[in-house]
Amino acid sequence: MKQLIPIACLCFLSCQQIANNKNTPTSEQRQQKTNVPKNSFVFFDSLFTNQPTYIASGFDFPIGKPNANGYYNAQKFTVNDHLGDDWNGKGGGNTDLGDPIYSIGNGYVNFAEDIEGGWGNVIRIIHKYKGNYYESLYAHCDTISVKNGSFVTKGTQIGTIGNAHGTYYAHLHLEIRDSILMDIGGGYSKNTTGYLDPTKFINSNRN
Ligand SMILES: [Zn+2]
Repeated sequence: MKQLIPIACLCFLSCQQIANNKNTPTSEQRQQKTNVPKNSFVFFDSLFTNQPTYIASGFDFPIGKPNANGYYNAQKFTVNDHLGDDWNGKGGGNTDLGDPIYSIGNGYVNFAEDIEGGWGNVIRIIHKYKGNYYESLYAHCDTISVKNGSFVTKGTQIGTIGNAHGTYYAHLHLEIRDSILMDIGGGYSKNTTGYLDPTKFINSNRN
């Protein structure tokens, strides 16, 4: 596993740019970009009541469908205060550039656009599961293949693995949140309120 360390360190250093990047939109700017009203729970309750097919019944990994086959987690949740997982192809470097990213579960695409800076193309999906709401966030994507405001099912390809316009070696930064619609954040924090360990969450909620 020693050969993984330089990649993880590199990612750590470069991902730190997320927190400091001046191009990262403020909460207000992000609010303007989303199509969801502030009374979001009413909105989502109505949405999923009308479209029960898209209520999640379990989750899979977003790469190497469905079990992350061929990928490794180079920087796990809370390591270096990381708020997500960094999924990299086992080939290292940019060998995974352009590989498919899949929705971890049924849900509603609530954000899908390039916010540049340390984030690049970001997709945020709202999942209703066992009566609770969760959000999955996929960052640094090379391409986005879903539209904001569309429904997806588990395993739907939503984009491809990217490097945030050349900022990093290609990898997927995946966050899973149990507090939906929070600010985009900085990717790193000692305060993990609202964030879940993605791998633990997926492994505990397969179907
Ligand atoms: Zn990351």
